[in-house]
This record gives sequence, C-alpha cells and structure tokens, in this order.
Amino acid sequence: MFVETMSPGETFALGKKIGEKVSPGTVFTLTGDLGAGKTVFSQGLAEGLGIREPVSSPTFTILQIYDEGRYPFYHFDVYRIGDISEMDEIGYEDYFYGDGVCLIEWADLIREILPERYTRITILKDVEKGFDYRKIDITEV
Ligand code: ADP
Ligand code: MG
Repeated sequence: MFVETMSPGETFALGKKIGEKVSPGTVFTLTGDLGAGKTVFSQGLAEGLGIREPVSSPTFTILQIYDEGRYPFYHFDVYRIGDISEMDEIGYEDYFYGDGVCLIEWADLIREILPERYTRITILKDVEKGFDYRKIDITEV
C-alpha cells in the first residue's frame, strides 16, 4: 500500500500512527534519497512509541537506542557504513531479532544481513506534484 503526504507534518503523523500500533520485534527499513523524509518518519514513529526525547539521525554512530517508550527503539542510520563488519561489531542481531522495534535508514546498504521478514518503507519525491509531496510505499516483505 502507499500513502501520499503533502508536508513533513503529515509524514510525521503517518510514522506516529504506525508507532502507536507496532508490535515488538518489528523491523522497518527506510529507503529514499537524502532529504526524502526518512528521519521525519522515524521521529513520528518514535513519538508513537511514547518516546519524548528528541530523535535525530544518528549521524556519528550507526545505532541510537531509546528506552523510554513502550518498547525499546533501535534507530539505525547506516548511511556512513564502510563495511558490513561494523554491523557485527555492534551486535546487530541482538536488535534485529530482539523484542524492541528496529528502524534502519539507508537499509539498502546492508541488504545482505536484513532479516527474512521486515516492513519496507520507500519514500519518493515527485517534483511535478510539489516540493513537499512524498509518496510513501509500505510493503511487508
Ligand atoms: P532523510 O532522513 O530522508 O535524509 P529528513 O527526514 O532528514 O530526510 O529530511 C526531510 C526534509 O524534507 C525535511 O527538511 C522536511 O522538512 C522536508 N519535507 C518536505 N516535505 C516533506 C514531506 N511530505 N515529508 C517529509 N519531509 C518533508
Ligand atoms: Mg535521515
């Protein structure tokens, strides 16, 4: 299925709605260009999980952990990953196969270690439909 949003607020609200209903153990992957809205979506999802502290892209670390919500929230941003061994070093399996909620920005860069099942979210711009338009595709893989 897909959802079209016309503002950052709408993308945030979509993330929040999904975060309010999510089951522990869910892994989300987020794909889309720089500035697509992956982090905006993640911030909404975090709020839906009951996390009040501000969520930003974990630019200098691959993983940021938030414990104050209904479930632990494992926010990955693998944009700057050099080698897949960096994922082994942080023990990614504990998170991917744990009881929290995982969200991975730039997941296409670590495709070979993604779990068998996850929720794939792709955010696309379409300048013909406006600067703030986004098409957000959500697929269970
Ligand atoms: P990414 O994490 O994909 O690199 P960010 O979420 O950090 O992107 O940034 C998205 C940028 O696009 C923000 O500046 C946001 O205000 C802007 N924006 C404009 N329209 C939208 C929309 N419909 N949904 C999400 N972000 C939008
Ligand atoms: Mg980001």
